[in-house]
Amino acid sequence: MTTAFFTHAACLEHDTGPGHPERRQRLEAVLLALAEPEFAALDRREAPRAEIDQIARVHDRAYVEELLARVPQRGWAALDGDTAMSPGSGEAALRAAGAMVAAVDLVMGKGADNAFCAVRPPGHHAESDMAMGFCLFNNVAIGAAHACAKYGIKRVAIVDFDVHHGNGTQHIFEHDAQVFYASTHQMPLYPGTGARAERGIGNVCNAPLPAFAGGDAFRDAYEEIVLPALERFQPELLLISAGFDAHRADPLASLELEAEDFAWVTEKLVELAATHCQGRVVSTLEGGYDLGALAESTAAHVGALMGAKA
Ligand SMILES: [Zn+2]
Repeated sequence: MTTAFFTHAACLEHDTGPGHPERRQRLEAVLLALAEPEFAALDRREAPRAEIDQIARVHDRAYVEELLARVPQRGWAALDGDTAMSPGSGEAALRAAGAMVAAVDLVMGKGADNAFCAVRPPGHHAESDMAMGFCLFNNVAIGAAHACAKYGIKRVAIVDFDVHHGNGTQHIFEHDAQVFYASTHQMPLYPGTGARAERGIGNVCNAPLPAFAGGDAFRDAYEEIVLPALERFQPELLLISAGFDAHRADPLASLELEAEDFAWVTEKLVELAATHCQGRVVSTLEGGYDLGALAESTAAHVGALMGAKA
């Protein structure tokens, strides 16, 4: 399989401030891991900037313009208690969203079977009118909306295995029958949303897991809840919010997964996409805050996208 890999050096220049877990070293660790010989077959591409019109499909245009206008000349601009922008943040956010748009274009145009976007800032907490939880623009949502608008896709599924619930993604699409959002996440945990009872218009599937759930419970949640729901939806395109903070070593959560669990879930999603979506999968990096675990887990995920068995 041809797997495309999108990133941009500008994503290293988003500086969240001293001591912040969402730091440039995360992306450096991912890039180093994917520089290994086993990833030589990746089709490496530079992420373009997303256009404002593409971002404004899921965000209020006033929010987008105001956010970009608030990018500071020096120092930091605080957006909420744990979300800040530095001088490089506007460009990074445009490239992070643009990676997703370009990856959707490439996969829909059959230029690659699937794609992974190694970008920051992450996106799944960003609401239509608000930055939140380290996220500025909702990258995966922008990709889903692009697929619907440009290619007439009627059913896009977003699977989010970040340890935190993707409140922003759920809220953006919970009244949109063209998009199905499925999430496994630790609960209770930030941001507090993601209960089983939150079902949107039947297009939202939340499978919360308790602290210390571990890999077996995670896999059961996919086998019993998420994968059957995806089978029923029959997506034409599958997008992944790939956060690796459910790993045992992560300092922000305690779901206690291993890298093999991320390889397993990726293989399952690739299989499902082969059945329903002509194999079309686009994945984008969300969280993951232990550098070693992030590197190992991303390698397992991308290896599975490339068709390597764990
Ligand atoms: Zn997270």
